[in-house]
Amino acid sequence: MKLGVDRVPEARKQRIQSLTYWGLQPTLTVLALMLPLLGAEALAYQVFWFSFIGLLTLLEILIPARPHWQESLNDKLLVLGLVWIASTAGDLFEAAFDESLFVWLASLRDQFALDIWPSDWPILAQVMLIFVSYEFVNYWYHRGAHQWSWLWKTSGHGTHHAFKHLTAINTMANHPLEALFLMLPRMLVGFLLGGEEVGMAVGSLFAVTVFMAHCNLELNSKVIGWLFTTNRYHIHHHSMVREESNTNYGCACILWDRVFGTFSDADTKEAGIGKTQPTYAELFLMPFEEPRSSQVAPLTQPASVASNDYD
Ligand SMILES: [Zn+2]
Repeated sequence: MKLGVDRVPEARKQRIQSLTYWGLQPTLTVLALMLPLLGAEALAYQVFWFSFIGLLTLLEILIPARPHWQESLNDKLLVLGLVWIASTAGDLFEAAFDESLFVWLASLRDQFALDIWPSDWPILAQVMLIFVSYEFVNYWYHRGAHQWSWLWKTSGHGTHHAFKHLTAINTMANHPLEALFLMLPRMLVGFLLGGEEVGMAVGSLFAVTVFMAHCNLELNSKVIGWLFTTNRYHIHHHSMVREESNTNYGCACILWDRVFGTFSDADTKEAGIGKTQPTYAELFLMPFEEPRSSQVAPLTQPASVASNDYD
């Protein structure tokens, strides 16, 4: 998809590239943190989300880090179709749990006085606390999915890894079943320990970070990459080499990888679960059958064989 990109002067592209490299992630992170401080309503969050996702997509067309990762319009629409199915599944699970599981968890919290959330802290401190708390739960779920074959399959996590080319919209390209597992932080922290209201406010910070972690742009990882996941780290997690993929489990917060020894800062040659990208039918069937080309899934073959197969 070119959209007249070739007509943009090279000097202007370089200027945009430089601004993007140094300023995009810090600026969007600060804006995301300002929204709860300003008491933003749902509409403001939606406008912010659509604006930054649109901005990332435009920049990916104008100044892609890996030009060969640019997708045709047809391929983009197919990814968007999967995103729509995954997010609809998430909405359905949430609606089903709203009057059942979530109510039960909240009653457990009251019954056993589990509400330890420091609601009197300044809002920004609460937002950062829930950010790292949610990511603590996500970290262990994600690490488990790469460690245990049953969890890799049950969650359909391989579907998210199967894409050879990553862009910002791949963030939500998951198997519909994974929506259940991505609710774990909200269930275990938000409903059981308290802080659910702040959990909603922190959504924009999560969104900004995870969309940038998948985008096809050259971004700086220094300083901001001590706490927040950058695309250099996360694309490494999407590597088709198993040992590389078994690092950097934090999709938004890289802190827990640093603490638990799974952090890796290195270049990534190729993404995906194997040399070829499975068909969409195979992606949906991944909880039942791993594609034959797969070499990232746990327990499919010894790690040494997978590494030798890579060239
Ligand atoms: Zn993963």
